[in-house]
Amino acid sequence: MKFDFTPSRELPIFDTHAHYNDPRFECEIDGGKDEVLSDLFSQNVRYVVNAGCCVASSCDCIAMAERYPQVYATVGVHPGEVDPDDDMEAAMEDIRTMLAHEKVRALGEIGLDYHYDDPPRDVQKMWFRRQLELAREVKMPVVIHDRDAHGDIMDILREYPEVTGVFHSFSASGEIARQLVKRGWYISFSGVITFKNAARLAQIVPTVPLDRVMIETDAPYLAPVPYRGKINHSGLMEYTAARAAELYGITVEEFCRHAYENACRFFGIGE
Ligand SMILES: [Zn+2]
Repeated sequence: MKFDFTPSRELPIFDTHAHYNDPRFECEIDGGKDEVLSDLFSQNVRYVVNAGCCVASSCDCIAMAERYPQVYATVGVHPGEVDPDDDMEAAMEDIRTMLAHEKVRALGEIGLDYHYDDPPRDVQKMWFRRQLELAREVKMPVVIHDRDAHGDIMDILREYPEVTGVFHSFSASGEIARQLVKRGWYISFSGVITFKNAARLAQIVPTVPLDRVMIETDAPYLAPVPYRGKINHSGLMEYTAARAAELYGITVEEFCRHAYENACRFFGIGE
């Protein structure tokens, strides 16, 4: 498939969470991620943060960040990637080294994923706690992956009150959003807020203060309506932004300005 996207208006887009190293870009689009990114950077997209999911993909994210001035990285081990047979301390040494790279701006994505019964919950919790310890030690924010595990994640985060960060593709309750904001966290919404079956989430969006909200793709996953089910990319964030603006009752330009400034502040990127 040839990559062909034209934005409907001019907006400053900051994609706070993507996986451009995912093989779907190379398999499904002529020219792969390089074609997609160079096209998007000539349009509305100003910055993209690629999230690492294991030691190897974290390395890939850094390599991409070195090639593009507009690309930054986070490094960490995703709860779906932990393995009871892996040497956790060796992985932590690799992650610690990568965290010192100038284009790495947070530790993530880390967290708990109870959607499938694998990996075992106690193993996921062990890696989650170990990475929160590392974030506390190196004083860096974290990117949280929370799938069907809201209660356990909040319980574990209470053990590390010095650590803050962002919940990516937020899906927990309004009460959890309120608690997180109070404790200095940011909330990032994905294309899921455009889905028809996301009425509960839609109610939560405008309760997040405008200085704490960010938006993301989670590309190639979670494409917003009207592209639901297709390969996602940062250009499509204009649909997510339009829905968020509608929920806040402000213009999409104003919403994007806030989301952009928040992301620059969170990831320590100038302007
Ligand atoms: Zn992700």
